[in-house]
Amino acid sequence: MAGTSITHVIFDLDGVLFRGSKPTPWAVEAVAHLRQHGGRVAFLTNNSSRHRRDVAGHLRDLGIEADEDEVMTSGMAAALHIRQNWPGRAAYVIGERGLTAELMEQGIPVVEHATDAGLVVVGWDRGLTFDKLVQAHQAIVAGAVFVATNRDSSYPLSDGRTCPGAGALVASLVTSTGLEPECVGKPDPGGMRMIAMRWGVEPGQVAAVGDRLETDMAAARACGARAILVLTGIASRTDGESAPPSMAPDVIIDDLSWLPEALK
Ligand SMILES: [Mg+2]
Repeated sequence: MAGTSITHVIFDLDGVLFRGSKPTPWAVEAVAHLRQHGGRVAFLTNNSSRHRRDVAGHLRDLGIEADEDEVMTSGMAAALHIRQNWPGRAAYVIGERGLTAELMEQGIPVVEHATDAGLVVVGWDRGLTFDKLVQAHQAIVAGAVFVATNRDSSYPLSDGRTCPGAGALVASLVTSTGLEPECVGKPDPGGMRMIAMRWGVEPGQVAAVGDRLETDMAAARACGARAILVLTGIASRTDGESAPPSMAPDVIIDDLSWLPEALK
């Protein structure tokens, strides 16, 4: 790769471009710099709570130029996957508005009661109740297809602390049902491949910037994208340096001011 500078960059969001309501250091400048130099930008997030349009709006509120068409969420990936594999099945959703909206836009009926569902879709849900868990559990045990948007264990907050991620909610249903979900978010490299295809380039010509080894770096490794770990989110330098080959970063940077170097 020496000598070839990468111009197509897929950014993870939480822990990379922002933490909660605050941009990470140099995020605004890094994306602007890339665009000014003719780079292409995409945003790929495992967070299903916001619809693509709201993700783009949140980025613009933080001062980061973003278009809805540049955003792919795990909610959108789940909706496309379900439309392709289980057309006509109704979904019971543990998740927030963004996930429900993506499913409905792909023509997937979303039902209030899990007894009417042929699918249970689980994403991040800050309004989770025990009743929702009971309904999802019983539908899965009764044979509904179990789909998870992602299995991120935790989620980075703006104050530097973390809270349970979608994976923690999924884990409770895995424990109670003894069944594993189909997971569509990273580390599945499908989203990165789809973005590269849209750009008309090979995944090997793309860089993926993320803050987690087991999702961002693993997906980049799986499709051959350059794996850039930035230390503004979940993983530490020690984590990155001791990662197994399947999720080892090619480059580790402290923050996005180092991105132009990492793309060289
Ligand atoms: Mg992240």
